[in-house]
Amino acid sequence: MSKKVFAINAGSSSLKFSIYEVPSEEVISSGLIERIGLADSLVTIKYDGNKFEDKLDIADHEIAINYLLEKLNELDIIADYDEIAGSGHRIVAGGEHFKSSALLGEEEIQKVEDLAEFAPLHNPAEAKVIRAFQKLLPGKPTVGVFDTSFHTTMPEKAYLYSVPYKYYEDYQARRYGAHGTSHKYVAQRAAELEGKNIEDLKIITCHVGNGGSITAVDGGKSVDTSMGFTPLAGITMGTRSGDVDPSLLQYIMKKENIDIDQMINILNKESGLLGLSGVSSDMRDVEEAANGGNERAKVAIEIYYDRVKKYIGQYLAVLGGADVIVFTAGVGENSITFRQGVLEGMEWAGIELDKEANQTRDEAKISTASSKVAVYTIPTDEELMIVRDTVALGNI
Ligand code: ADP
Repeated sequence: MSKKVFAINAGSSSLKFSIYEVPSEEVISSGLIERIGLADSLVTIKYDGNKFEDKLDIADHEIAINYLLEKLNELDIIADYDEIAGSGHRIVAGGEHFKSSALLGEEEIQKVEDLAEFAPLHNPAEAKVIRAFQKLLPGKPTVGVFDTSFHTTMPEKAYLYSVPYKYYEDYQARRYGAHGTSHKYVAQRAAELEGKNIEDLKIITCHVGNGGSITAVDGGKSVDTSMGFTPLAGITMGTRSGDVDPSLLQYIMKKENIDIDQMINILNKESGLLGLSGVSSDMRDVEEAANGGNERAKVAIEIYYDRVKKYIGQYLAVLGGADVIVFTAGVGENSITFRQGVLEGMEWAGIELDKEANQTRDEAKISTASSKVAVYTIPTDEELMIVRDTVALGNI
């Protein structure tokens, strides 16, 4: 019987899944359930070149998974539940506790719930999904893969904020970072493509999608990353501001007569490319508007390039130079002009983009032969990482 492993990415009202056959690592199905807990939940299941869609009310995550398993069986994607060898779950906040992926027993699930303060929309939903899998598929291993684990190797000087130390001691207020699974995957892949041992490389990974973060990877370990206590910090993003002076918040809040929750919501949902351009949070729309002469869209894009370039500069300083720079995620993989805009004028640092080679959306080396720093674009694959960790920890 073939073995199948789920990679699950659950949010507060959505659940994305991929099903892998192992050991071949072939994706046999993937899909999405949206609007969980709301009326008219939407289900999409892709398999074998087909697409199944349904609209019905799904009240919670357990019902969603029950429904999904039944549907997968009906569609003959999973002939028998015994084929399911385990499930891997993306978990947003692992705090200081989860330094690597973990097999999830009751104690670990409780820990995921305890960390809800660090990811209020995500961790509780993820814990519910894990419990549902354990209930519906008893005895099958469930593994947690944490966005933060890869960054737990950061030194104190990178993760502490310059605020009274007691806030760290009392409340674990510190930088945690995010997108760790993606940064780890593309760093490892870049080392493979370079034909070198990752222990011998200094790599700067740029994960730029709707959300985005830049990471300094030294010898395979994250030593600094642009996201902070939450994913609001760092570079300009689709709707998130990235770094701002905290005093600006107080100033705007007084002027607009809004409270801190409203202000943080504006920084999360109404800022970034969207707030600057007034056009969209989607880079394709902003690029189109800029090409059509929209001045604010042009400025938004300039700022986007600028913030990423500055983080690359910081990490060149932190690492003492870099051997490799990698671009990944929606914008990093697909926007040719973005990569060019970010790296323009960095030849002084030994970074030479090959403009011809850069005309790609696939995995490729995009630096010149004479460039001291190798530059790659590498499609990220967080699901594959989740499945690999599940197979390893679940003894599948
Ligand atoms: P998420 O962070 O939600 O996973 P993605 O990694 O899918 O997001 O990235 C979404 C972003 O990628 C959007 O801003 C989208 O415009 C951008 N993107 C996708 N394709 C292109 C393209 N061809 N050119 C420019 N930007 C693109």
